[in-house]
Amino acid sequence: MNIVILGAGQAAASLAAKLRALGHKGGITVIGEEPLAPYQRPPLSKAYLLGEMDEERLTLRAPEWWAENGIDLRLGERVTGIDRARRTVTTDKGSHAYDALALTLGAAPRRLPAAMGGHLHGVNVVRNIADIQTAKPMLLPGRRLVVIGGGYIGLEAAAVARKLGLEVTLVEAAPRILGRVAAPETADMIRDLHRDHGVEIIEGAGIARITGTDAADGVELTDGRHLPADLVACGIGISPETALAEAAGLAIENGIATDAQGRTSDPAIWAAGDCASFTVPGGRMRLESVGNAIDMAEAVAANILGTGADYIPKPWFWSDQFDAKLQIAGLNAGYDQVVMRPGTGAHSGSVWYFRKGRLIAVDALNDARAYMIGKRLIEGGKSPSPEAVAGAADLKALM
Ligand code: NAP
Repeated sequence: MNIVILGAGQAAASLAAKLRALGHKGGITVIGEEPLAPYQRPPLSKAYLLGEMDEERLTLRAPEWWAENGIDLRLGERVTGIDRARRTVTTDKGSHAYDALALTLGAAPRRLPAAMGGHLHGVNVVRNIADIQTAKPMLLPGRRLVVIGGGYIGLEAAAVARKLGLEVTLVEAAPRILGRVAAPETADMIRDLHRDHGVEIIEGAGIARITGTDAADGVELTDGRHLPADLVACGIGISPETALAEAAGLAIENGIATDAQGRTSDPAIWAAGDCASFTVPGGRMRLESVGNAIDMAEAVAANILGTGADYIPKPWFWSDQFDAKLQIAGLNAGYDQVVMRPGTGAHSGSVWYFRKGRLIAVDALNDARAYMIGKRLIEGGKSPSPEAVAGAADLKALM
């Protein structure tokens, strides 16, 4: 069986490796548009942006690993179409026949339109290594950075820039930062952390436009305020890469729609990672995280080879900001109650999410113990009551 994988990010690397680990002897081709072999993305907005990690440490596999494992890694090759009837992929360099095709195409950062100044020099996004290589030389002490978007990308970029000595203002259009992903209690801890490190956070303020002629010189808010800036970073979310799948007539629903095993509406085509939504009991979800890129890709590799097992995500996330570590276990979607436990020391505490009395997620800031215990409880399907979490003198008693 000849397997072709489109996209050469984390999910592609995990899928290819898992196919070989499970004994697949047939062809594997990985096609990526970027000129670089698959690399880790999480450090891009953290250690790599800060200059504490080099490119070699970012790569997921040593350069020789691909050939040693009989994987045809094709970089700098842009896929132009999928011919489902002929089971062929066309690219700007030729075509590739497949028996099974896996789409691990990731997502593209949302950008502000040119009419809002999104095209100006000095306006950056944080998604690819090339974005960081463009932005990094501009991050000089004393410069003024305006970050648009108070999600993880915006907050991590703000922390790095502040560490590098820039004056940083972060603007979030929604009433508060982390509105999409965390409870107000977590947002409060993160806001305090940033303010204590000198980041100005403005919430509930829309962006009218980025000002400047060729280069950005400021950001105008919808309330009329003008924030002067030497550079601007946008972290306003991502859109799953669905264009190729859509053009090929595959079902799209919040990303490339797959069943519980990662199979798209064409049984010869599979999808995994940021670009793919999958069915779960009671609905459909798409997860934007490296953990999901790895785990779903591995599940899909097994299913391509005939395992026939549903993918059951075990969500976990983390974010490094300044010297603080935020760790998240589970998914808080649909929570109706939150218990807050203070941690020890500054900027430390945990937020426990419940739905109908059941523990579903934990956010822990500088509190590794709360994270570990919460993660074990959630993955083990055990739930202490909200009262027990609130009242426990020692969290271990909850296990
Ligand atoms: P995100 O989590 O979707 O956050 C984007 C934020 O920007 C949201 O709060 C959004 O508010 C806000 N926003 C959108 N349009 C805006 C506008 N015009 N003006 C001001 N604010 C605006 O996405 P992200 O932070 O860009 O990150 C991209 C992806 O990378 C996500 O999947 C993220 O989870 C992932 N990532 C993860 C980590 C981590 O786990 N440590 C680190 C970095 C990135 P609304 O929701 O109201 O639109």
